[in-house]
Amino acid sequence: MEVLIIGGGFAGLAAGVALAESGCCVRLLEQKPYLGGRARSFVDLTTGSVVDNGQHIFMGCYHATIRFLSTIGTLDRVLFQKHLTVHFLDRDRRLTVLQCPSLPSPWHVLLGALRSDSFAFKEKLEILRLGGSLHWARAMEQGPERLSVRQWLTKLGQSERLQRNFWDLLCIAALNEDPSVASAALFERVLRMALFASPEDSRLGIPRVGLSEVYVDAATAYIRLKGGRVECGQAVAGLLVSEGWCRGVRLSSGEQIEAEGVLSAVPPFQLASLLPGELLRHEPYFAPVISLRPAPIISINLWFDRAITDLDFVGLRGTTVQWLFNRGKILGAGENYVSLVLSGAHRHIARSKEELLAAALLELGELFPQAQKAGLLHSLVIKERSATFSPTWEAAQLRPAARTPVRGLYLAGDWAATGLPATIESAVQSGYNAAKAIQDDRRNWHATPEFSPQ
Ligand SMILES: Cc1cc2nc3c(=O)[nH]c(=O)nc-3n(C[C@H](O)[C@H](O)[C@H](O)COP(=O)(O)OP(=O)(O)OC[C@H]3O[C@@H](n4cnc5c(N)ncnc54)[C@H](O)[C@@H]3O)c2cc1C
Repeated sequence: MEVLIIGGGFAGLAAGVALAESGCCVRLLEQKPYLGGRARSFVDLTTGSVVDNGQHIFMGCYHATIRFLSTIGTLDRVLFQKHLTVHFLDRDRRLTVLQCPSLPSPWHVLLGALRSDSFAFKEKLEILRLGGSLHWARAMEQGPERLSVRQWLTKLGQSERLQRNFWDLLCIAALNEDPSVASAALFERVLRMALFASPEDSRLGIPRVGLSEVYVDAATAYIRLKGGRVECGQAVAGLLVSEGWCRGVRLSSGEQIEAEGVLSAVPPFQLASLLPGELLRHEPYFAPVISLRPAPIISINLWFDRAITDLDFVGLRGTTVQWLFNRGKILGAGENYVSLVLSGAHRHIARSKEELLAAALLELGELFPQAQKAGLLHSLVIKERSATFSPTWEAAQLRPAARTPVRGLYLAGDWAATGLPATIESAVQSGYNAAKAIQDDRRNWHATPEFSPQ
């Protein structure tokens, strides 16, 4: 019998590859006609450009993701920087850079900050202070478990200006939530892993191709090569659970599929409709399925008749949009195509696409003189209302482990308990965790007849 995987995003495909690699018979069911979930690309019909549903950034510290892409043979489709280098553009058009040299951690970041023209002298000392306390203070007097990022940064002596111009941009990019509500514990972990672990881990990686091309086809081919199945247009309508065991799924077509194990790799907002009501209401493990709240991301894609910047990407300070990615340059497609990112976009998600476009063009004109002269050829605003879950400190403590209390049912997805924000890395790591739990339990099923789910 097979192990069924519900959902063909990073989590489901990573789990599928890991299980197939271990000799397990895998059948992956994806409801949409395409795979990739919240990290996918498509061809824009007007321009013919490859557009991502939102610009995605990888990091050197994405160890599980790097392993996954290496296994399926596509790691070279993500271009990693030699050293962490980030440009910032202020509202007054001042361009500055943070460049971290190849020194042992934490010196790469600390020296990078000291040399950078992005910070005032006093702010550099504040960064040294925070870096020092992260690197050297093993046990802080009071952990940040119940603090917001804002409270924690203030406690660590970070000025309002440095927070606004630097930490807030990092927090919103990494956690997709406003620092006033985002979990400090999660942010601290991100800083430790991404900034203060090693220069290699701090590097950013940007896909050189559309997101789907980074992993979707190669992962599918890998699973199929090992004898597994990957099927699109197969919506699961419910889990077949009886007497504490999950024995398969029911498709929206009415067909029932029995399985040796079922791995749910769908977001919490979709898992709610698959679970029997009894479990959803009374089993504490499934509480996050109803308590986690979504956080949106808006992407504004613009095609101009001329180049507006030479930079690959830049953090924007003092504006509503937070990052600009020069997609035409990154993809090498010879187009003057840029993508603007607005994460943690709760206050903007209800605005009309026309309004968002007009506001973004106004800001772009203020920041880039070339944008004022450039003609807009085409635009595409993409709203991802449930881009991630909102990582408040309460939510961070609710995340479920891979093994559920229902025998034969496992859980993966960027929202599972990985200790990471809802990112590609969390999704892949959760897929690996679930695959490991299934492999361990399968050994028991096969060794002990009374454990057999049949
Ligand atoms: C705009 C945007 C920008 C982002 N930027 C970054 C970034 O820069 N860096 C980063 O690391 N992360 C980023 N993320 C987060 C990242 O995309 C997600 O964390 C990751 O893709 C989640 O993968 P997943 O497999 O857990 O879930 P998903 O990708 O949501 O996959 C779940 C899949 O399950 C399917 N499904 C749901 N219900 C059913 C059902 N009943 N039957 C069958 N199939 C079903 C869905 O269709 C979907 O394909 C971003 C996300 C967005 C939206």
